[in-house]
Amino acid sequence: MTTTDTPSAIPATGYRLRLPGPTEVPERVRQATARVIVNHRGPECKTAIGETEEMIRPVLGTTNRVMFFASSGTGVMEAALVNVVGPGSQILVIEHGQFGERFTSIAKAMNISVDTVATEWGQAIDVAAVEARLRERSYRAIVVVHNESSTGMVADLAALGALVRDRPTLLIADSVSGLGGIAMRQDEWGVDIVVSASQKALMCPPGLSLASVSPKAWRVIEQDERRSVFFWDFRRALKSIELSETPFTAPVSLLYGLRESLTMMHEEGLPNVLARHEQLSGALRAGGAALGLADFCERGPRSSTVVVFKVPDGLEGGTIVRRLYADHRTVIAGARNRLSGRVIRFGTMGAFSAATILTDLLHLEDVLTKLGLPVEAGAGLKAATEHLAKTK
Ligand SMILES: *Cc1c(COP(=O)(O)O)cnc(C)c1O
Repeated sequence: MTTTDTPSAIPATGYRLRLPGPTEVPERVRQATARVIVNHRGPECKTAIGETEEMIRPVLGTTNRVMFFASSGTGVMEAALVNVVGPGSQILVIEHGQFGERFTSIAKAMNISVDTVATEWGQAIDVAAVEARLRERSYRAIVVVHNESSTGMVADLAALGALVRDRPTLLIADSVSGLGGIAMRQDEWGVDIVVSASQKALMCPPGLSLASVSPKAWRVIEQDERRSVFFWDFRRALKSIELSETPFTAPVSLLYGLRESLTMMHEEGLPNVLARHEQLSGALRAGGAALGLADFCERGPRSSTVVVFKVPDGLEGGTIVRRLYADHRTVIAGARNRLSGRVIRFGTMGAFSAATILTDLLHLEDVLTKLGLPVEAGAGLKAATEHLAKTK
């Protein structure tokens, strides 16, 4: 331990992975990933892929084919762009946080012509500004982050879907940190491409990503525009998924893991899963507020999968993060962007319960007290338990 303070009265706990991804992997899922490796084109793997696809469709709210890839989330963000953007076509990126900026960086790296509609981080996206842009220019796609993990803000996909419904423009959404924790109704909302990854609300180890593509987007993808794409070619991936395969070697262990985590989600019931995320993130926010931590987002729509607190004046976010780890093995995130030092972030997604967030608040209270904040003992736990009782 690096601290020189007197040890906490709270006994040390095990490693608590409380990041907004990767998230804790339930033991059932971890065990599923430990199964023997099988032929990636044999019947066992086909069954795993087929069942995984079938179980993830209701989570996405779609009847689309869902393609799986071996990559982290950023890979499939790039894939979404490279498959629809041809020479001369232009996209509009809605930036409301770090991951929206990443989309712009990817587009620039690909030499795609990109316009942006940027909102101040922590504010709701500006749908009217997007609509104004669409009236001025014809974009191949609008690109948006559904659940901004850097700020805790959710984008209104239904409103954006309505804007593109009668236009040729596609809507591409990164729901890497949303899918499985907040509502996604891809078909109803008119989202053309949803990309996501295994290590967040889907509570699997990192390394598996997925894309769900609408018929409207397929018509664009199938145009022969000589795109520079090989590994990520959705046309090839579609042919494979029709055989319950992947074009290249499938990440067999991770697919077994995802099949197990989806089984758990269906056992709990998808509406219950979403309600649990909403209730528990609300309880953590209430508890944090009682400890003097303001929500980074002054208004909603707030995320149920990541809670972002402002760091009180005079403190540095990294100090809180380091002390939570050193004293409690509670691993949360700060920021690696323009908010560095100014926010702390908790994952509230996947396998977590009321006990998880109450423990977070216990550890937070201890650390904030040690750092000299005037925290009322037990105030965070009280506010959180009250929220839980109220929202039962
Ligand atoms: C985690 C995350 C990603 C993907 O990051 P990787 O490290 O590439 O998995 C993309 N978008 C959002 C919103 C995320 O939270």
